[in-house]
Amino acid sequence: THFGFRDVALEEKQTLVNDVFHSVASRYDLMNDLMSGGLHRVWKNAMVTTLNPPRDDAPFALLDVAGGTGDISFRAAKAAGAGFTSTVCDINSDMLAVGEERALAQHLDHQVTFVEGNAEELPFPDKSYDAYTIAFGIRNVPRIDLALKEAHRVLKPGSRFLCLEFSTVDVPGLDKIYDLFSFKVIPHIGRAVTGDAESYQYLVESIRKFPKPEQFATMIRDAGFARVSYQLMSGGIVALHSGWRL
Ligand code: SAM
Repeated sequence: THFGFRDVALEEKQTLVNDVFHSVASRYDLMNDLMSGGLHRVWKNAMVTTLNPPRDDAPFALLDVAGGTGDISFRAAKAAGAGFTSTVCDINSDMLAVGEERALAQHLDHQVTFVEGNAEELPFPDKSYDAYTIAFGIRNVPRIDLALKEAHRVLKPGSRFLCLEFSTVDVPGLDKIYDLFSFKVIPHIGRAVTGDAESYQYLVESIRKFPKPEQFATMIRDAGFARVSYQLMSGGIVALHSGWRL
């Protein structure tokens, strides 16, 4: 295959991301608790509350992209009724394997299924889902614009796109603490638990490079979504973005 310079860089980015998650898959859930002080649970629950899946047995098909070990899907399944199903789609087979084990252990394997796939090129038909979620995933995708277009393509008209992602802390004082924590503490926790500090260095850097919430909202609009909005949480550590496919 012939790659241009830009493509080579993007291929490398995906390879780096894949290495990170292959190396942490088995300890990913523990890492989340350690690195966020348990706050990731609060953020994910806020996403599920906003998603608001039906509590009765009305059919509702969620697509949980970059769903990893299935956290969002399990939380949504527990909040929803019997008609709820979720497809966890992730590029990393190790993350999916951990998720499948968790689904079995929680007796949610009939509602939550796992599919290997790339957010930039989803292996699903047009207009096939009632909602699309991506939590702490889009930052890792090399071509975010492609991922957003794919989200729009697979959603049914009248359905919702939700994205949870790290954002920019803009509370004076908290920003200093956050920087200190990100650059001094996180790589050490990463090394202690997985033996790999570099992976977490990458994650911290990717948070810095991610577009500001206003700019990301514009990208969501450019992909065709309507009524685009976002909500900052925990002083801007995290943003929950929303858009509707009309
Ligand atoms: N959503 C889960 C959660 O909140 O616990 C997992 C988030 S984890 C930080 C990011 C995930 O993005 C990893 O499982 C990784 O394999 C996945 N990922 C990275 N690039 C991807 C891509 N191009 N397509 C699909 N998934 C991707």
